[in-house]
Order: sequence, then C-alpha cells, then structure tokens
Amino acid sequence: MPTYPDPPVTFVRGAGSRLWDDNGKRYLDFLSGLAVTSLGHAHPVVAEAMAAQGRKLLHVSNLFGTTVGPEVAATLDRLLGGGGQVFFCNSGAEANECAFKLARKWGGHGRYVVVSAYGSFHGRTLATLHATGQPQKHEAFQPLPEGFRHVAWNDLDALEAALDPSVAAVLLEPLQGEGGVHPASTDYFRGVRRLCDERDILFVVDEVQTGLGRTGKWFGYQHFGVQPDVVTLAKALGNGVPIGACWARREVAGAFEPTDHATTFGGQPLATAVARAVLAVMEAEDVPTRAAAAGDRLRAGLAELAGVREVRGMGLLLAAELDGPRAKAVVAGALDAGLVVNAVGPSTLRFAPSLLVSDSQIDEGLGLLAQALASA
Ligand SMILES: *Cc1c(COP(=O)(O)O)cnc(C)c1O
Repeated sequence: MPTYPDPPVTFVRGAGSRLWDDNGKRYLDFLSGLAVTSLGHAHPVVAEAMAAQGRKLLHVSNLFGTTVGPEVAATLDRLLGGGGQVFFCNSGAEANECAFKLARKWGGHGRYVVVSAYGSFHGRTLATLHATGQPQKHEAFQPLPEGFRHVAWNDLDALEAALDPSVAAVLLEPLQGEGGVHPASTDYFRGVRRLCDERDILFVVDEVQTGLGRTGKWFGYQHFGVQPDVVTLAKALGNGVPIGACWARREVAGAFEPTDHATTFGGQPLATAVARAVLAVMEAEDVPTRAAAAGDRLRAGLAELAGVREVRGMGLLLAAELDGPRAKAVVAGALDAGLVVNAVGPSTLRFAPSLLVSDSQIDEGLGLLAQALASA
C-alpha cells in the first residue's frame, strides 16, 4: 500500500556500518534502519543465533514454556535495575499498548488517562497514535481511542495542571526521537517522578528508540537519576528481528492476571534467541560506553560543518539543525555521496549510526556530509 513515498535506493546487503544497493554501490549507514541495527548489519553472533535457533525451535505459543524468553527477561530486568517482570511482543507500538492496558488495569475503573507530551512519538496503532503528541497525524483517523491527553514538552507546570484523578500514567521519551531529537531536562524527569509519586501515578518511559546503549547509557532515563515504573523497548532489542518488550515493577506487573493480555508471536524462541545474542554482544562490547565516546566525536565533527547551526541529542542519537529548510535536499545529496541519514524536520538531520561504528567511519561520514551540505 502507498504508505511510504517511492524508495530512492534498494539495498540488498549489509555488513557492519556498510550497506550495498542493487547496483553494487556502497554506503555508510548512519541511520541503522531507524536506530534498530545498533550492532550493525549481519553481525556474525546475531546471524549465528538466528540460524541455530531456526534449526532447533522457532515457535510453540505462550501456552507452553520455553527456555530462552525467561533468560532474556532476566537480563533486561537486571539492566533495568531489577525487581520487575517483562511481557514480550513484536514492536514498539505493541510494547506501548501493553503499557496502556497495564496502566488501566492497575489504575482500576475511573483511572485510565495516559498523559504524554506534544512532539512525542509512541507508535501508529490507534491508541499509540493518540498517545503520539502530533495532532496533525490524528486528523484523518478520528475518532481515536479515549483516554489520552497531551501537555507541553519539558514543562512541569503544564504536566501538573493535567494530572486529575482520572490519570493512571504519564508516558514520556527521555529524548524525543521522531519529534526532532529533543532531550528531556534532568529537572523535568525528576519533577515528573515526584509528581507521579505524590499522586500514585505510573511513570512510563518509552525507551523504544533510546534504550539499549544508544544514548551513552543503557537507558535514556538513567541520565536523569530517576527510576520509572514501566519501560517499553523494541527497536534495537532484535537488531532487525522484530521484538518488543514491556517491563514493569513487579507490583505493577501484578495487576495483570491470566487472560488480560496475550500475543501469538511475542516471546517466541526465534526472536528471544536473537535478543539474547544481541544483549550478550552489547554487554561484551560495553555499547553504552562506546556510544558515549563515538557520540562525542560525531557531535564535535558535526558542530564544525559549514551549514550546521546547532547539534543536539545524547550519545549516538544526534540531530544537526541546519541553516535553512534544506534537510530533504541534504539527505538526498548524502545518499548520492554514499551516506544514509534521515530528516526529522524541514531543517533537521538525524544521526543514529551503529553503536560499533569506528572513529574512521565517523570521520568518513562527516566528510560525505560536508560534501552534501556544500552542494545541496
Ligand atoms: C519507533 C518508535 C515507536 C514505535 O515502534 P514500532 O516498532 O514502529 O511500532 C514507539 N516509540 C518510540 C519512541 C519510537 O521511536
């Protein structure tokens, strides 16, 4: 269906930070399939885990136990600080849907509203679309499911004013990715935690794009010194194999009872075996530390380019604000030059390279971008 514009390039192969198109032309990938292939393309450990699990057991449904899912849940729980439980699903939107249902079940009747921020992105299903604070995306699809409310981003007073007794949860990204790469402030996240504690409201953090090392810490919220009640994950967890996860503190997760929520594919051995391999490589390579260091290098290089007015973001999730509304032309020029990036606004470029990107690849990408900026 025509849900995307015609693709400018067709890719047929990848390795690490490199991609090749159907004409054999080589590219440097600074987008990672929208912050998904954090370990690069065709990572040998991930590829082997897929193949080995494919020969062993792909799927049995959640009516039965498997050995892999619980192992991945335990690893995620440890990385998230412990004391929680995980529901596996197949995408970021599904992870957020799980969080909404959990918030409603936990809140009980009359407490069901999810408050999120303008400029946010939480998915494209009807409920996650409504949580997404971009009214222009809502218009064609009314009526949307009830129970969503939006407030100004990074504005604690605005949030406080929106918290009435019908509110079950506050849902925020640590850094708005699709919305233009706008990080939250430490004061904001700490204030949100305090407001949620005072009113017994769940603080749900959407780490679908920011999670698993991308921002220079395992999770974006860790930059702010707060602990959420619920965390949603997807993108990088499968390095390209679809998997999502919703983690919640055990007391919150306990609001669900058997039959409250379910999934056919979620938690199956194939996807979780890949996630297990991804997390093992991420821990062995200490990807948060690598992302922080590589992010510093990329950020410094971007700031020096002619035509770049401002650089913002965290770790290896960065944006360059250009000197005019020419992001589209620069993206096309970069692709021509052999660099994959995308635009998240008329004058905003987004960068999300593999967390294993090398210094020389960063420098090479900066050179290609400089060419594109000069000619676009
Ligand atoms: C991409 C994204 C989603 C949606 O994930 P899908 O897998 O496309 O459903 C949700 N939240 C954030 C912050 C995202 O970046």
